[in-house]
Amino acid sequence: MPIEIKVKIKEVIQRNYNVKSFRIEVPGDLNYQAGQFLSVELENNPELKKYLSISSSPTEKSYLEFTKKLTQSDFSKTLDNLKVGDQVTIQYPFGKFILDETIPKIAFLSGGIGITPIRSICKYAVDMNLPIDIGLIYSNRAVRDIVFKDDFDAMVKSHPSLKVAHVLCEAEPGFKCTIGLINSTIIKNEIPDYLEKRFYLCGPPAMVEAMRKILVEELGLQNDKIIMENFQGY
Ligand SMILES: Cc1cc2nc3c(=O)[nH]c(=O)nc-3n(C[C@H](O)[C@H](O)[C@H](O)COP(=O)(O)OP(=O)(O)OC[C@H]3O[C@@H](n4cnc5c(N)ncnc54)[C@H](O)[C@@H]3O)c2cc1C
Repeated sequence: MPIEIKVKIKEVIQRNYNVKSFRIEVPGDLNYQAGQFLSVELENNPELKKYLSISSSPTEKSYLEFTKKLTQSDFSKTLDNLKVGDQVTIQYPFGKFILDETIPKIAFLSGGIGITPIRSICKYAVDMNLPIDIGLIYSNRAVRDIVFKDDFDAMVKSHPSLKVAHVLCEAEPGFKCTIGLINSTIIKNEIPDYLEKRFYLCGPPAMVEAMRKILVEELGLQNDKIIMENFQGY
């Protein structure tokens, strides 16, 4: 059952030019699974409430973290002004975008801020040293839009069965990536064993649906091998 609690901001981390993570202190044991989401209400105002994925992993025991792409919305502007010690109200956990640890081969397709629950699941798998092969194809406009780049670089180093492939619209000299948008050719190249994988898709609904269609209609995967999280609101 989800719980509602008032919590304090413990740390604010600027992830890139328009994305910030907020770490919050939660009293007692954290009770959620990697990949789940929470609601955040600001200033006790139900109009300033959004659903956001938990970007930390249950292995990071001293805080819960959520990560927001900041826009011109009232919610974003209020969130952006939060300081350490300020209070917010959260409800958690929600959602079924979670790992089935009995599945040995998984893949993630994501774009932009859709990486947040995937960061949580990958961090959990790496910290727990789970015997799972993980492929991630992460698409962004440019290198400056990549979220959690340092985290993923570190995870790939410590966990060779995690492979990360970047897909960008704009090339950057010296940065290894494919230019374009995620398509069936890129999936085949980066995840050659795609037919054996359980796929997780996360991002804006239009992107998630486009990815699902490629997997099912072009690559012959069954819908029951695909788990989706739609970031409604984008
Ligand atoms: C399960 C789930 C998990 C999610 N996880 C995440 C996550 O981890 N991170 C994340 O960032 N989002 C996540 N989302 C999406 C999130 O809930 C919001 O819908 C999304 O972040 C957009 O919120 P917003 O406040 O930026 O914009 P909204 O208020 O929804 O506005 C949409 C657009 O309108 C513009 N706009 C709104 N008001 C104004 C104004 N007054 N003036 C000018 N422009 C305006 C904004 O700039 C924005 O581009 C998730 C959604 C779901 C359902």
